Amino acid sequence: MRRLRSVEIFDSTLRDGAQGEGISFSVQDKLNIVKALDDFGVAYIEAGNPFSNPKDAAFFERVKGLRLKSAKLCAFGSTCRKNIAPCDDENVAALLKANTETITIFGKASELHVTEILRATPEENLAIVEDTVRFLKDNGREVIFDAEHFFDGCEANPEYALEVLRAAVRGGADVLCLCDTNGGTSPLDLYGAVKRVCGAFPDRRVGIHCHNDAGCATANSLLAVEAGAVQVQGTFIGFGERCGNADLSAVIPNLMLKHGYEIPGVKLETLSETAFRIAEIANLSIRSDKPFIGRSAFAHKGGMHIDGVCKLPASFEHIDPAAVGNRRRFLASEVSGRTTVLEKAVRIAPELKKDSPETARIVEKLKELESDGYQFEAADASFELLILKLLGRYQPYFSLIQYKTTGEFPTPDGSTSAYAMIQIRVDGKTETAASTGNGPVNALDLALRKALSVFYPQLAKVHLTDYKVRVLGAENATAAKVRVLIESSDGEHVWTTVGVATDIIEASWIALVDSLEYKLING
Ligand SMILES: [Zn+2]
Repeated sequence: MRRLRSVEIFDSTLRDGAQGEGISFSVQDKLNIVKALDDFGVAYIEAGNPFSNPKDAAFFERVKGLRLKSAKLCAFGSTCRKNIAPCDDENVAALLKANTETITIFGKASELHVTEILRATPEENLAIVEDTVRFLKDNGREVIFDAEHFFDGCEANPEYALEVLRAAVRGGADVLCLCDTNGGTSPLDLYGAVKRVCGAFPDRRVGIHCHNDAGCATANSLLAVEAGAVQVQGTFIGFGERCGNADLSAVIPNLMLKHGYEIPGVKLETLSETAFRIAEIANLSIRSDKPFIGRSAFAHKGGMHIDGVCKLPASFEHIDPAAVGNRRRFLASEVSGRTTVLEKAVRIAPELKKDSPETARIVEKLKELESDGYQFEAADASFELLILKLLGRYQPYFSLIQYKTTGEFPTPDGSTSAYAMIQIRVDGKTETAASTGNGPVNALDLALRKALSVFYPQLAKVHLTDYKVRVLGAENATAAKVRVLIESSDGEHVWTTVGVATDIIEASWIALVDSLEYKLING
């Protein structure tokens, strides 16, 4: 394998990814994704456009309090508008206000887009690009210039596309990122164009930003690096506008394991875990046949294949699954991932060893729960409680005598109203509480909290910050199970718990109880 130069990863899950159909992030979701990406070790996190909506503006306010290990946050916006100087442009002002070390700005690199969409002259566009980049550089920022529609522009008028890059360089751009905005460029055309740019600008870092409309985004990103690009932009699990962006969960292992590039800071062995963490936050499922990270990516079913893999793993596996944090599965007789479980469990019980009977018990129980539909990748609080319970180190803080929920629709004012009553016992004392709510789960949450607050006033600070429901095994419709993920906060910490049942209220109950007990354990 060749050892080549190093490559940096630029993740745009929060910006381009958020353009994907059905994707919507709360501010807390975004903060959680930033944390996941930073833990994984990407170099840049593009976090949104502070000008485009109040949610992104609020995010930039809150993210200032986050201490990142390695990633640089990056605000994203467009060049200044026609006939407005960058210093007078509100969009450009918002970029500076976001207070990130790095700023990505996109400008038009296709003459057609300049004249037909922007309705500016080619010269005006060059000035817009140069002036905006220079203004941001003068304000002390690292500037990544996204050359929008670069490859389409290059095909129609290569000289103009290069002229736009020259304008960005005159302004002082640190990175020239070439965008296949429509996602239709073929790998060979793209390779030639990137090579040309790298030759023309030997003193600039060249980046690549591919979309997957022709199914070539991963291949195109890899070829761009072969041609000299040093920054790869994409979204962590590939979602984004239309057919999505270059899928970093495939690009990264290809670059490192197949092409021999170095990506400083990246913890490749946590690739799968990170992808699942992000998928849970985005409320998406990861297809089981997804390369590298899917559950089936290293699953072997046929007897001969299983036999082959047992004798020599490389006989039917293109890489060692552990290299990307995935695991081999034999579908006939599933082998548990003891090492993965142990890795997480020792954080709670450091004395656990791979061959201790407690570890075996935890692995068994997890297998059982996972086949019931539980997933703990994004529910660390429930995972921690589970380990404590299995180790016999857990004392319940209360016991349930009974709860009851009712709903009513329509009500005279047309709204939904729900009611919950609950009886619990703490140290032999019974407490009864009731509440209304805007749905049965909300009513139950409020009633439970009310009853428990009598004994544990610290729970008054806890509130639910997110609630997600996923229907599992949808093939038998109403009998299907649901998985509920609840995210809670006490203003200082955020934790996530999970519950699975055929009944949505019961699944929510399980996650609610875990959430409050987790708070009680952690004071
Ligand atoms: Zn894009």
